[in-house]
Amino acid sequence: MTSERKFICVSCPLGCGLTVTLDDSGEVTKVEGNTCARGESYARSEVKDPRRVFASTVRVRGGKLPVCPVRSKTPAPKGKLFDITRAVASLEVEAPIKIGQVLIHNVCGTDTDIVASRDLEAV
Ligand code: SF4
Repeated sequence: MTSERKFICVSCPLGCGLTVTLDDSGEVTKVEGNTCARGESYARSEVKDPRRVFASTVRVRGGKLPVCPVRSKTPAPKGKLFDITRAVASLEVEAPIKIGQVLIHNVCGTDTDIVASRDLEAV
């Protein structure tokens, strides 16, 4: 018996509606609705290993601003986003901070890093 999953491709602003057909073992047998190869790749990834870029802020000590925006360097597993949120919420970093600076290496064992999204000068 097959099953279907429907979702929107978020790989570009067109937002194509995707339909993914899965066999009994959960393997993808067909992707429809995509208008390019990226859509098929996104659909397969979304079914097997959904990931999202994480974005938030961290508290800063001695900076011109009290917080600094951060993001994951690469998309992180969707199921780990709550753990990552807790890890980032408990972090406080010292200014100055450079854009791209790694603030948490291999956050929550996800093989991605939390990096600064901007420069932040010290006071
Ligand atoms: S399938 Fe291709 S064109 Fe459609 S939203 Fe995804 S990336 Fe964009």
